[in-house]
Amino acid sequence: MGYIKEYCGLFGVFGCEDAVEKVYYGLYSLQHRGEESAGIASANGKDIICHKGMGLISDALKPHMIKSLKNPVAIGHVRYSTFGSSNIGNAQPMLVDYYKGKVAIAHNGQLTNAKKLRDEFEENGSIFHTTSDTEVIVHLMAKPSGSKQNVLSDVLNQLRGAFSLLILTPTEMIGVRDPYGFRPLSLGKLNDGYVFASETCALDQVGAEFIRDVQPGEIVTVSKDGLRSEFYSHQKRYASCIFELVYFSRPDSMVYGESVHLFRKKLGAKLAEESPVDADVVISVPEGGNSAAIGYSHASLIPFDRGFIRNHYVGRTFILPQQDMRHRFVELKLNALKETVAGKRVIVIDDSIVRGTTSKSRFGLLRKAGAKEIHARISCPPHRYPCYYGIDFQQKGELIATGKTVEEIRRFLNVESLSYLSVEGMMSCTTQPKQSYCNACFTSDYPTNINEEISNLTDSFSVEEAEKLNQCVTK
Ligand code: SF4
Repeated sequence: MGYIKEYCGLFGVFGCEDAVEKVYYGLYSLQHRGEESAGIASANGKDIICHKGMGLISDALKPHMIKSLKNPVAIGHVRYSTFGSSNIGNAQPMLVDYYKGKVAIAHNGQLTNAKKLRDEFEENGSIFHTTSDTEVIVHLMAKPSGSKQNVLSDVLNQLRGAFSLLILTPTEMIGVRDPYGFRPLSLGKLNDGYVFASETCALDQVGAEFIRDVQPGEIVTVSKDGLRSEFYSHQKRYASCIFELVYFSRPDSMVYGESVHLFRKKLGAKLAEESPVDADVVISVPEGGNSAAIGYSHASLIPFDRGFIRNHYVGRTFILPQQDMRHRFVELKLNALKETVAGKRVIVIDDSIVRGTTSKSRFGLLRKAGAKEIHARISCPPHRYPCYYGIDFQQKGELIATGKTVEEIRRFLNVESLSYLSVEGMMSCTTQPKQSYCNACFTSDYPTNINEEISNLTDSFSVEEAEKLNQCVTK
């Protein structure tokens, strides 16, 4: 799959001597959720200090510094910017020192009313130091009002869009999810302490035991007095991002109560049922297509084999300045295994197609390696609509399925056949109620009042525009 960029990962530990070190290792398990910057803020009961840097965790945070920090509470963040540019000023956790003291915030998601709130603050003389949407939360918290807890509830009720948050004060660690539950956030127990993590694979990393997910609309506060839960919203419509299960989360995580690996195997089996084809071998585009390819193979009784070998030493492609360099790096990243594909009818499973250019290069490698036929099977429906909740394919013209029919995409990819999983097929693989998921980038069924909210977003195109483009190509 191509250039969908993950958004952010959160990890926090309360009540461990080596909390900072644990957060450091926990973040490594969440590196796939953000590669642009990383940071850790830690507290000792009186003060908070924060360390941040650009790039991967190995570049951004130095192990000797981590080792020397003995604060018993810490929160960490890995970031890919979905709102605000990529620079150290926007790296998180965001630490501020205001009249109520110090507070650090780490945010996963995207606020759809950030620009509106920011404009209002600026009109009233506030000065912003970053371009990140997270900073409006800080400004809302700094507005004078009643007790601290009420301030937080009031603040959260003014936010729209997707937000899972970790908030650190000198004495408390607080985990929050937005009322729709767009982004995941899990709670774990570690000896006498507590852990928050965007995905449960990070809990495993530090030996924490999974307790439960933070619920949509819930504030979970951890302090020396233990754990306290309260709800700031009683909205009943949930909208957890189905794409977390399809693509973003690691297969060894439980997300929204689902095993990601088993969910993806079910997607593959459903795909085999919906789009069978005579072939000699099933292969996957690693790593994203692996689980679904196993499911497809089991259901179709066509053997699974490795068709691509991945070069783990090639860095990120999207930061390279020129298209030809990016193309070269895509080729460096994967090589086709001739022994598997030469002279064979090959079914290749990928987890999605966004722009199509990366998929075309990859399928081209199979052809070069001698594949007789290439049958592409995609384990989710075509992406036709933008995401406003923190996934980076919202720019105009980026979605190949918005501008082309499936047959046109097949010809563009130069493959013998191409099928996507249906929306119904994808939703049938969940064990939770289907109405508790967001699938708007496939269906345009946005769970929030997006027409009102997106007028506040830059560089986005409207639902009507997407609909119009879509009708042009499907007529
Ligand atoms: S629009 Fe798509 S990517 Fe965005 S939250 Fe909904 S399901 Fe997830």
